[in-house]
Amino acid sequence: MVGAGLAGITAALDCADRGHEVTLLEGRPRLGGATSSFQRQDLVVDTGQHVFLRCYSAYAALLGRLGVADGVAVQPRFRVPVLAPRRRGSVLRRWRLPAPAHLAPVLFGHRLMTLPERIRVARTAMALRALDVEDPELDRASLGDWLRDRGETERSIRLLWGLLAVAALNAQPDEASMALAAVVFRRGLLDGASNGDIGFYRRPLGDLHGQAAGQALTAAGVDVRLRSTVSEVRRSGERWSVAVRNGGEIGADSVVVAVPHRRAAPLLSGLGMPEAARWERLSASPIVNVHVVYDRHVTDLDMAAVVDSPVQFVFDRSCAAGVRRGQYLAISLSAADDCLETRTADLREEFLPALRELFPRARDARVLDFFVSREPNATFRQAPGTGALRPPARTGVPGLVLAGAWTATGWPDTTEGAVRSGHRAAETVDADLRRTRHDLEVTA
Ligand SMILES: Cc1cc2nc3c(=O)[nH]c(=O)nc-3n(C[C@H](O)[C@H](O)[C@H](O)COP(=O)(O)OP(=O)(O)OC[C@H]3O[C@@H](n4cnc5c(N)ncnc54)[C@H](O)[C@@H]3O)c2cc1C
Repeated sequence: MVGAGLAGITAALDCADRGHEVTLLEGRPRLGGATSSFQRQDLVVDTGQHVFLRCYSAYAALLGRLGVADGVAVQPRFRVPVLAPRRRGSVLRRWRLPAPAHLAPVLFGHRLMTLPERIRVARTAMALRALDVEDPELDRASLGDWLRDRGETERSIRLLWGLLAVAALNAQPDEASMALAAVVFRRGLLDGASNGDIGFYRRPLGDLHGQAAGQALTAAGVDVRLRSTVSEVRRSGERWSVAVRNGGEIGADSVVVAVPHRRAAPLLSGLGMPEAARWERLSASPIVNVHVVYDRHVTDLDMAAVVDSPVQFVFDRSCAAGVRRGQYLAISLSAADDCLETRTADLREEFLPALRELFPRARDARVLDFFVSREPNATFRQAPGTGALRPPARTGVPGLVLAGAWTATGWPDTTEGAVRSGHRAAETVDADLRRTRHDLEVTA
């Protein structure tokens, strides 16, 4: 197993559960991949994942397996305050009714949109429910074009559709694959009344995915090797040989490559896989987080979406980060190409006044800390046409299996997609190894 993000951790646990001997090789000194935490003085800072949805069933099951389900909390009912500077905001919420009636308050309550816009949104939501998310035509279209074809105004796209899409797909509506957008809106909001209820972290990601995974993997008998960067995966007769930088070679009957697409292709360059050259076109999309610690509480909200402001989404991270005095807010900026290179001092000039506009109590508060974390390759660029580039778990090379949120999971690049890919990879390995052993027994 190469790579110990959520995909590799899941695949390793599943393979061990099925009785296989597993070695998990991870280049970094810790487990959890893109979901990790770092220490900044007294603060435990997450790399940026803030939320999951109730419909992330595979991910929730993994948290259960790792024994950390109590480290997260899912809101009882979908509720997202939408703030706007110098105007009364709205609250997007659901009712306790079957889908799609549960979303009626989202429309009635979105005061920032006009009544005709809200009626149009209801019609578009019904059209979304009728879509076949597997239709390849959908993957070729952008969410923005699809919405405009249905008569959605630029304002509705900005105030509702874009708000949700940019957070879920790390892409602006004109840059987002309609197929993936349909998955997000269908599975996340329209197909089940409670699907979109939002889950928050109460403990750092490093604890939940890193430490807990380490314990679970060890208990399952997985040989975990950190600081073990793999430089090449090659065939060695009927078996596999995995070259570890500075660490020799490891032999295996089967290999799961669970690293990001840009890392996977070079590892497999000797195997004659023409499709690997196409993975580069999945590209990457950045997420930037702006972190502010105040000397006092400036808002009572757990989270809020924001329109007509540089702030997209803001989260109260005080609890997960262990802040006891004051309040720690993180502003999450998806599809953040514009500010990836912006200097921290300039972001400070932009975001502190923006927060003061949204939260009047921030005007009197002292800023104890301000810093920025940047993830240039947070997700693949979930653009039109990318559905065709995502490979399935089983490759054309016997014994070589792929995993990762970027593979063809049917989900966007999310924690849920990563865990599902891990399960699929383990099923594939198990089925193939059993078949090979059965064939050998028959031949013998
Ligand atoms: C800032 C940010 C915010 C996000 N927010 C959310 C969110 O709110 N909700 C959500 O659902 N998702 C979110 N995501 C996406 C989510 O984190 C990813 O989809 C998921 O964690 C990917 O898991 P993975 O196992 O596929 O890959 P990764 O986590 O990237 O794991 C791959 C692992 O492979 C290792 N590796 C790479 N090359 C080698 C090598 N040669 N040898 C050995 N090891 C190697 C890496 O070190 C890494 O540990 C966010 C991502 C980021 C970066």
